Formats: sequence, structure tokens, C-alpha cells
Amino acid sequence: MTKGIYFYVNTAADDNGYHYLHRQGCKHMPDKKDALFIGTLYTLHQGLTIARMSFKKVKPCIKCCIRHSATRMPANVQPVHHFPR
Ligand SMILES: [Zn+2]
Repeated sequence: MTKGIYFYVNTAADDNGYHYLHRQGCKHMPDKKDALFIGTLYTLHQGLTIARMSFKKVKPCIKCCIRHSATRMPANVQPVHHFPR
């Protein structure tokens, strides 16, 4: 587990002004023109730190970032699905 992860930030903000942080290969990655490569990093925390140097409001993408780093998430936290079918 010494291989770095490629992190990208969506340069287009959502309705609340948040930019989403993604790992390479995420299905929710924005188009190439809206994806800013911020570096090869080892933890989500590093990714957020770097992203916040460029963007004021940054949130980790729930699909690629939260899921892979949720080992210590409390049991009472339920995932929220924003895209019902
Ligand atoms: Zn993602």
C-alpha cells in the first residue's frame, strides 16, 4: 500500500459552492475540462488539505472518498442517497 492515489477536484462548484474531491477512476468524476489534478497522494486528508489551498469549500466525494475511508465511521451514520431512481 505505498502506491499513491491520483486526486482530482471538480473546478465547477455545486449549488452551495462546494467543489468535490475525487479519486482517479471515480464514476462521478466531472468532464476532463472540469477536473483539476491536484497530485498523487496517500490519504484523503492530504487530498483535502491540498484541494483547500486552491478552493475555499471542498467536500470529499461520497462515492470514491468516503467509501474507501469509512472504516471508523460511527454505526449510526447512514449514507444519504441524493439520486433516487
Ligand atoms: Zn468521486
